[in-house]
Amino acid sequence: MLFPTRCPQCAREVRAEFAGSAVHDLTCPHCGARFCVLVRKHRFEVLFDLGTRALMDGYAREAVATFAAALERFFEFYVRAAVLERMAGGERDLTAALAALEGTWKHVAAQSERQLGMFALAYLLREGRPPDFLTPQALGSDFRNRVVHRGDLPRREEAEAYAARVFALIDRLLTELGEEGLAHAALAQEAEFAAHLARLPPDVTAVFEEHPGMFRARRFGGGIPGPASGKAVPNAGPSKAPPLPRNDAQAFARALAERGPALTDFLKVPRPKGTERP
Ligand SMILES: [Zn+2]
Repeated sequence: MLFPTRCPQCAREVRAEFAGSAVHDLTCPHCGARFCVLVRKHRFEVLFDLGTRALMDGYAREAVATFAAALERFFEFYVRAAVLERMAGGERDLTAALAALEGTWKHVAAQSERQLGMFALAYLLREGRPPDFLTPQALGSDFRNRVVHRGDLPRREEAEAYAARVFALIDRLLTELGEEGLAHAALAQEAEFAAHLARLPPDVTAVFEEHPGMFRARRFGGGIPGPASGKAVPNAGPSKAPPLPRNDAQAFARALAERGPALTDFLKVPRPKGTERP
């Protein structure tokens, strides 16, 4: 999936492709200037947004696979945020804490089941209660496996229901992490950026970007109130604000109505393969 950015040298639009990390080393096709776009967004956010885009375009199967990947990367994000938060009070600085985290994560990196186990423990240690939402039913695991591993073609409503479930779960856990937990994840990303910038040749310009997204808007300025995962929430009286979402589907639909247009506008449909990249 491509996203638009602007060459800092000639100011013309350049289409970049989302990289595995948030760091994109680019060469302007118009003037040849080299620059580096650093996107302040986490992998799970990028994936969820790509899934949303696929869903809106009618690619239900691709959407489900991408939402499933977003959820896995979110569990990783949670583990990293929780561990860094815990280590922040200790004697080690961020670089040492990140190195220790990498050295640990490599043991689980290749297997999502191991990562889920790590997440369960991180959740218990941080919240003091078991992650009761990790049941296969709550995660929609059967549905995901049928689609991702057995080639089932889901209907749009099924893909939407799955999206709503993943959205509500991530939204709830982000709320639980709170500003404190999220701050450590943001610091880790800034450290990753700093390390990359330090390796760049002096003629390469660095460009920091904030992109629209289904989660970002909620974290940084406004967005939908509180987690409403599966529970009915009473209407907050005669205020002018729209009623709180009563279930996952409503929460997702509302986020989609609020942020979908900006996201769709931003993630324009790419040109056919073979005509884009040099
Ligand atoms: Zn240029």
